[in-house]
Amino acid sequence: MTDRLVLLGTLLFSTIVGCSAPAPTPMPMTPEIIQVVATPSATPTFVPPTITPTRTATPTPFVTPPALGEAAIVPILMYHHLADLPGNATELERTWTVAPKDFDAQMNLIAQRSFRAITMAQLVAHLRDRQSLPAQPIIISFDDGWAEQYEHAFPILKKHGLIGTFFVYTNPIDRKQFMTWTQLQEMASAGMDIQAHTLTHPHLRTLAPDAAYKEIAESKSILEKRLGKPIVAFSYPFGEYNAGIIDMVKRAGFASAVTLASGYKQRADELFTLHRIRVSYPDSLDDFAKRLP
Ligand SMILES: [Zn+2]
Repeated sequence: MTDRLVLLGTLLFSTIVGCSAPAPTPMPMTPEIIQVVATPSATPTFVPPTITPTRTATPTPFVTPPALGEAAIVPILMYHHLADLPGNATELERTWTVAPKDFDAQMNLIAQRSFRAITMAQLVAHLRDRQSLPAQPIIISFDDGWAEQYEHAFPILKKHGLIGTFFVYTNPIDRKQFMTWTQLQEMASAGMDIQAHTLTHPHLRTLAPDAAYKEIAESKSILEKRLGKPIVAFSYPFGEYNAGIIDMVKRAGFASAVTLASGYKQRADELFTLHRIRVSYPDSLDDFAKRLP
């Protein structure tokens, strides 16, 4: 009887271990099993043992890709200008600007809440190639390539150990108010994610197809040549796109594109119309926190 129970226990235990652990290495019997085997009065019903993890318990350090048709929870924050505005600033200025001290507080909150900043390439690998991501992924994106982003965002991101994704349009690089190539190269070397936003920031839908394609494809090749890194993501100027523009972005070799549509749920079938969360001047830290997952 005892021998049969030992055999039964061992077989069941092996089966359970075999289901959950990929390594075929035999594991030592846990005290729970010994207890079941050693109690003659126990009913023959086998109680599955609690498999004690060998490492200390920590939260899941990664997220697996979503099931087919499901969305991944990856907020992509969207910033443009980083500056202190005067009291009489226009509504437009207040919409597209965040004060540097507010940005610092927002990045501090992100770091405190254990978000992990990822790159656009990592998001593509997750949604398209079904790779895992670090737990609580977030993308911190900036459009246009303003000098303020190098001056204010770059040091704050570094201070909090975060990566920023900078969608830059290439023609004004090295001009007044915009970042320089030297600054972009420095940021890329420091692990920042630089991505494309056309040559001249046009209304793409109003351009002739050849001109629109040139804006999209050449911004990618110029950035790749100057930075020596693959450019995988595109940001539609003014958030404007249609089926023809999406097709051009795909043909130019991009793997993803971001819009101005609001939300943090990203789907594999929406890799070229990814959602973002706009942060604006009037937002309090509480407003900001409420928009995060
Ligand atoms: Zn823009």
